[in-house]
Amino acid sequence: MSESRRNTAPYKAGRHFLQIPGPTNVPDRILRAMDNPTIDHRGPEFARLGREVLAGLKHIFKTEQPVITYPASGTGAWEAALVNTLSPGDRVLMCETGHFASLWRELATRLGLEIEFIPGDWRHGADAKLVEAKLAEDKAHKLKAVCVVHNETSTGVTSRIKLIRDAIDRAKHPALLMVDTISSLGSIDYRHDEWGVDVTVAGSQKGLMLPPGLSFNAVSAKALAASKSNKMPRSYWDWNAMLKPNESGFFPYTPATNILYGLREAIAMLMEEGLDNVFRRHDRHAAATRAAVKTWGLEILCLEPAEYSSSLTAVLMPEGHDADRLREVILNAFDMSLGQGLSKVAKKVFRIGHLGDFNDLMLMGTLAGVEMGLELAGVPHKKGGVAAAMDVLTRAAKGG
Ligand SMILES: *Cc1c(COP(=O)(O)O)cnc(C)c1O
Repeated sequence: MSESRRNTAPYKAGRHFLQIPGPTNVPDRILRAMDNPTIDHRGPEFARLGREVLAGLKHIFKTEQPVITYPASGTGAWEAALVNTLSPGDRVLMCETGHFASLWRELATRLGLEIEFIPGDWRHGADAKLVEAKLAEDKAHKLKAVCVVHNETSTGVTSRIKLIRDAIDRAKHPALLMVDTISSLGSIDYRHDEWGVDVTVAGSQKGLMLPPGLSFNAVSAKALAASKSNKMPRSYWDWNAMLKPNESGFFPYTPATNILYGLREAIAMLMEEGLDNVFRRHDRHAAATRAAVKTWGLEILCLEPAEYSSSLTAVLMPEGHDADRLREVILNAFDMSLGQGLSKVAKKVFRIGHLGDFNDLMLMGTLAGVEMGLELAGVPHKKGGVAAAMDVLTRAAKGG
């Protein structure tokens, strides 16, 4: 037996429960779509694929404007959004909603941007009133962009992007609005054009149900205009080098062909179900999860009900109990992965991912695994969370 075989864990029957808030379960239809020969990315068959996915993406972002696709993780699309629109030394307004907003700030700082960071408690979304006040103060229009994470995956808090747009408009400020939708696109209602977003950043491995490896920038005419004269150096990420070949379905360098096969299938699946139904399904699973958490007597990290995330729920552990130990117990006993607490909330929270290709009974299995895990790990809680979630789902199935 080879070294690698001997190190392999014994076979575990059934499917692993991947309930982290991304990467998410990749459905069989998408796996099968990707299981095809890689084709000539300069040939006519590829052109059809390229045109089809680039057009299909517009429905998902709710935009008539171009969606640029990179063979990169979401972080690459963050960088692309900034380097295509801003110049070194530009001031940018960001909101500390959690770990991902903090990482975006770090990335922007490394690029030579000056960040004004509105502090946050990691339990609320971006505060539109504070954004408006900052912009109103900025009479000289030194702030060139406002960057917000739509769904903060580290906390399970969804910021209301429409309110941020309204705040920018009320302040009559010309700053670009950039939004990270990496864990909301295809799970939570999002409208690039209607909400006047200039750059929407997204990734493949969460609501789009794909493996990691693709990311996106949906761009407005105003963002494109900024990209013609901004001073940030870039080459690989350059929108203008992408847009010309994209018109005929091609890319300026080798695209991730097989993930694009998967993307074509993912778009078809989302359109077949209907985006509104997809959003309602995520809302229902989030509501059922919260019913379980409340019955267990545990606390949801998000403090504002209007900002509850429909793609994940972050749960606070009782004082003196370690979330990572609970996750370890659950992984070992039930073969389920839950999301860990990140940076400021490390060990204090665990996150239940309920986004992507997911249905009522998968959620029930997930919540049963958590309830049994709480018992096994000796975490104080009340029983009946699973039953409470069943009630929510049964009511919904009755149409009530
Ligand atoms: C997952 C995630 C990221 C990071 O994306 P990568 O694909 O890991 O680079 C950024 N922002 C949010 C909101 C995320 O959920």
